[in-house]
Amino acid sequence: MRTRFAPSPNGPLHLGHAYAALVAHDAARTRGGAFVLRVEDIDGERSRAEFVASAFEDLEWLGLRWDEEAVFQSHRLARYAAAGERLKDMGLLYPCTCTRAEIAAAARASGPDGPVYPGTCRGRGVDGAHAAWRLDVARALALTGPLAWRDEAAGTQVATPEIFGDVVLLRKDLPASYHLAATLDDAADGVTLVTRGMDLFPASHVHRLLQALLELPVPTWLHHPLLLEADGRKLAKRRGSPALADRRAAGEDGSAIADALRAGRLPAGISLSQGLHHRP
Ligand code: GLU
Repeated sequence: MRTRFAPSPNGPLHLGHAYAALVAHDAARTRGGAFVLRVEDIDGERSRAEFVASAFEDLEWLGLRWDEEAVFQSHRLARYAAAGERLKDMGLLYPCTCTRAEIAAAARASGPDGPVYPGTCRGRGVDGAHAAWRLDVARALALTGPLAWRDEAAGTQVATPEIFGDVVLLRKDLPASYHLAATLDDAADGVTLVTRGMDLFPASHVHRLLQALLELPVPTWLHHPLLLEADGRKLAKRRGSPALADRRAAGEDGSAIADALRAGRLPAGISLSQGLHHRP
């Protein structure tokens, strides 16, 4: 079995990342599997090399070793583009030039990521040269039929990717999107247990659909609770959660912090999100 930790290097890691890394690392270690590190650095504007270096040091400081050389999404753009072409050839993608504001104004429903794109550009024959490409989810589901996936904690789920509307698979500025890149990479990296935070539970519906369309192996998932601030919101550097790098620089003991997290001992004011009811 294989697990992965897949940080986006657009900021320093904090305790929530440490928790996510531990879940993936310890699942591999206790089950005799491999732990893979994948840097999700395709967000060119926000990804920074210094955050990559610092994340590596943070993980080592926490006592977490990965088993193979880390992989970088930025090295894999050709692979994402090829999958995009394949989906276009299947007639499942269409170009869209709508702005966020236009979508917000036209949306009739709200989904996991905010206003649900109402399909404005579907069938409109927009010029694809400077457009994002969206998946025609209804057409895709008609092709695959009903799909299911399994979360180790929440059990078997019927895939409902339509809750997002027609998701963007190829961004205007990039031949990929989070959904496409993460799904292709989990397959390429041989990941058999995808662990990640509950906030990404809904995304797995989309990933399951992409696996069916692209004939990829289907992993099992384990969505774990999130570390929350006293106000109930997710830990975030911008709200003042201390960076692991700062604690490391201050001489704190990383493996003691990891062991405290394992034992469920959290700093004052921080708690774990409750329950498995993260269904939309
Ligand atoms: N790169 C994502 C993040 O840092 C994680 C994606 C995933 O685990 O699928 O939130």
